[in-house]
Amino acid sequence: MTPRRFASIGALNSRVVACRLCPRLVRYRESVKPRASFAGEEYWRRPVPGFGDLGGRLLVIGLSPAAHGGNRTGRVFTGDSSGRFLVRALYSAGFANQPVSESRGDGLVYSDCYVTAAVKCAPPSDRPTPTEFANCSQYLDGEIALMPDLEAVLALGALAFGAYVGHLRRRGIGVRGLKFAHGAAYRVSGFPALYACYHPSPRNTNTGVLTQGMLVGVLRRIRSDLGAGTRPSKHN
Ligand code: SF4
Repeated sequence: MTPRRFASIGALNSRVVACRLCPRLVRYRESVKPRASFAGEEYWRRPVPGFGDLGGRLLVIGLSPAAHGGNRTGRVFTGDSSGRFLVRALYSAGFANQPVSESRGDGLVYSDCYVTAAVKCAPPSDRPTPTEFANCSQYLDGEIALMPDLEAVLALGALAFGAYVGHLRRRGIGVRGLKFAHGAAYRVSGFPALYACYHPSPRNTNTGVLTQGMLVGVLRRIRSDLGAGTRPSKHN
């Protein structure tokens, strides 16, 4: 399958927010019951587009919006604990103007960095199916094609890592040897360097599997590699 291209991010996002390709996810996103703490708030309940600086050199790929995070606020990694954890780290590493990500109007600006999700609708139990990954891959492909200066991709979790590896396959790139492991970094000839990090989901951050220091460490390494104009020297 040839990766899909869109004329502009506006054209891509118009398709994203109107997308109904995955019946299970459409049902779920539209029927999530608001939490008591968000009672009275109008949930977004649509696919959640990526957000940030498409002219940036770093692309961060998460898994999918959370039912009461992006599916509520309409912005990726916004209004939930994963978003707070990630954005605090992006701020520490110099990719965000503030350590807070609570709502679309909160003033957050990413610089040199674009953030998206492999699957753009909230799935039940945070688990998209292989078909749903495949359906949504056209949008990830489209976002990547709209980043002319892309030099580094950070995959958050094994599933996001797999989604990006799928993108490389669609581009005809051999992916043998690309294995998810926290802290791994790969040079991919002719393509952005690929970095891997555990996903900042509560099951990882509440148990110490992923600490703020670990995520900041990965982001600072990327920042350093970008600044030096270097790429990871080897698979690790
Ligand atoms: S997950 Fe992606 S492909 Fe599926 S309905 Fe949502 S936006 Fe469309």
